[in-house]
Amino acid sequence: MKYEEQSTEKQNIFKLITNEMISKKLAKAINDQINAEMWSAYLYLSMSQDIYAKGFKGIAHWYKVQFLEEQAHAAIMINYMHSQDARVILAPIAEVKTEWKSVLEAFEDTLEHEKKVTAMINNLCDIADEDKDRAAANFLAWFIDEQVEEEENARDLVNHAKMIGDHIGGMIMLDKELGAREYHTPSPLK
Ligand code: MG
Repeated sequence: MKYEEQSTEKQNIFKLITNEMISKKLAKAINDQINAEMWSAYLYLSMSQDIYAKGFKGIAHWYKVQFLEEQAHAAIMINYMHSQDARVILAPIAEVKTEWKSVLEAFEDTLEHEKKVTAMINNLCDIADEDKDRAAANFLAWFIDEQVEEEENARDLVNHAKMIGDHIGGMIMLDKELGAREYHTPSPLK
C-alpha cells in the first residue's frame, strides 16, 4: 500500500519513524543538486568525446576522469539523503552540448559551468543556514572546498590554453600532461 493510501494514524507513525531530519526545502534542493551533478558528468563526458574526436586523447582522458568525479559528487549527495532518511527522486538529465569550436572553448565552458555549480552549492548552504541545520552545513563544507579546487583547475586550463595559443607543440605537451590524471575516490566515499 502506498504512503498516501495509509490511514492518518499509520501516516503519523510513518512520520515518527522517518523523523523528518531534513527540511522539505533542503531535500528538494539536494535532489536538484543530484540532477545537476549528473548533468555535469554528462557534460564532461560529451566534452571528452568531442576532444577525443579532435585528436587530443590525453585531454579527453582528463574529462573522462572529470565525468567519474561528478558521478561521485551525486553519490555523496545520495548517501547524505539516505543518512537523513530523505527520499531521492531522480529526474531526467537534460541534453548537453556536443561540439566545441576548440579545446580552449571547452575549457572556458568548464570554468563558467563550475561557477554556476558553486552558486548552487552556496544556495544549499543558505538553506542549511535558514534551517539552522548544522549537520547539513557540515556536510556541505566538503563541497565548498571542492568547488574552490574545481574553479582553480578550470581557470588554470583556460590560462594555459591561452598561453599556448596556436602552438601545436604546446598543445601536445598539455595533452600529455592531462593524460596522466588519475581518478581518486573522493574522501566522503572512502
Ligand atoms: Mg560537481
